[in-house]
Amino acid sequence: MGSVERIRNVAKRVAKWHRAGYQMIVVPSAMSGETNRLLALAKEVDGNPSPRELDMIASTGEQVSVGLLVIALQAEGVDAVSFCGWQVPIKTDTAYTKARITHIDDRRVRAELAQRKVVVITGFQGVTEDGHITTLGRGGSDTQAVAVAAALKADECLIYTDVDAVYTTDPRVEPDARPLGSVTFEEMLEMASLGSKILQIRSVEFAGKYKVPTRVLTSFSDPMIPIAEEAKSGTLITFEEDENVEQAIISGIAFSRDEAKLSVRGVPDRPGIAYAILGPVAKANIDVDMIIQNVGVGGTTDFSFTVHRNDMQRALDVLKNEVQPVIHAGEVTGDAKVAKVSAVGIGMRSHVGVAALMFETLSKEGINIQMISTSEIKISVVIEDKYMELAVRALHRAFELDKESA
Ligand code: ASP
Ligand code: MG
Repeated sequence: MGSVERIRNVAKRVAKWHRAGYQMIVVPSAMSGETNRLLALAKEVDGNPSPRELDMIASTGEQVSVGLLVIALQAEGVDAVSFCGWQVPIKTDTAYTKARITHIDDRRVRAELAQRKVVVITGFQGVTEDGHITTLGRGGSDTQAVAVAAALKADECLIYTDVDAVYTTDPRVEPDARPLGSVTFEEMLEMASLGSKILQIRSVEFAGKYKVPTRVLTSFSDPMIPIAEEAKSGTLITFEEDENVEQAIISGIAFSRDEAKLSVRGVPDRPGIAYAILGPVAKANIDVDMIIQNVGVGGTTDFSFTVHRNDMQRALDVLKNEVQPVIHAGEVTGDAKVAKVSAVGIGMRSHVGVAALMFETLSKEGINIQMISTSEIKISVVIEDKYMELAVRALHRAFELDKESA
């Protein structure tokens, strides 16, 4: 919701569904740029603000949105009421700035719905058992919406966003990317964790855990588009495999530039060494993604792993100060010029040769693979970041994702 005009559009859209007889709960996010503005303001007062107060401040963006939306709905002649997270209440744990929803009390919302009201609930925020306001992490309105849909056993959770669907890959990188009519929840979860920024990962986890049919669709369509058309638009996240027998093997190519690779050379090759390296890293609260260990010559190995790019410097410090002197390893290096490219698809379960085609394609483009990791439904490679877009386009073509019927 970027402007008053856009808020009126949302109200028109909601009013349309409401008049058609649907019970509606709406979970708006803050107006565009507002959360950034609020967080910047807090950091201007002090560079290291307390997380509790950050949540107190950041949560207000959504409070403004719900009030404005209800006013706009009332102007449309629709009876509506707004609630903050604490009023519902939406209970969370105490992890300020990235709290997890623990319980949603549906009674107040149900009572309002029973009176034919549209209920508008703030995105992104909840309340702890002790009454402290929390936020759910950036992009947390997605999770709030899916969680509310789960608690109220909604028929569907519609997530209106700035893209019109989930695509086979980011159309800004590959113009021939195609919108997916449906994608399984497991594929969506992989894509979200592998760098696709469409939905907050936790919202997909929630959708999977509570089997909430969730649809990603555009907020930029004409708000008066017929419901029958709107209800089929975008991408539906499904829970059934093999709906269409001719499933594509690969559903999408995901990528992420937020990677960094750390290497420790000349590591003595003996039991306990991986723990000696990664133990201190874990203790510093740094998430490790891919890991590779090469047995080298002379009884030593090279040990490499990837972390989020923002954590690279901290991880380097840990390796240099706490690992290298203890295990008597050789050189420790960090490389931020890497990217991760992944092919995702549940079709991999029943098809062989996916990895081979992926490696063949990259080799034809002369792209060196630095690391590989696989799961049942994805293959990821780490490559030099300057080749990332080339790799994405080549793989998109090799898996025929540009062709109709996938
Ligand atoms: N307003 C919050 C944010 O910017 C939540 C959201 O947009 O989903 O992160
Ligand atoms: Mg968002």
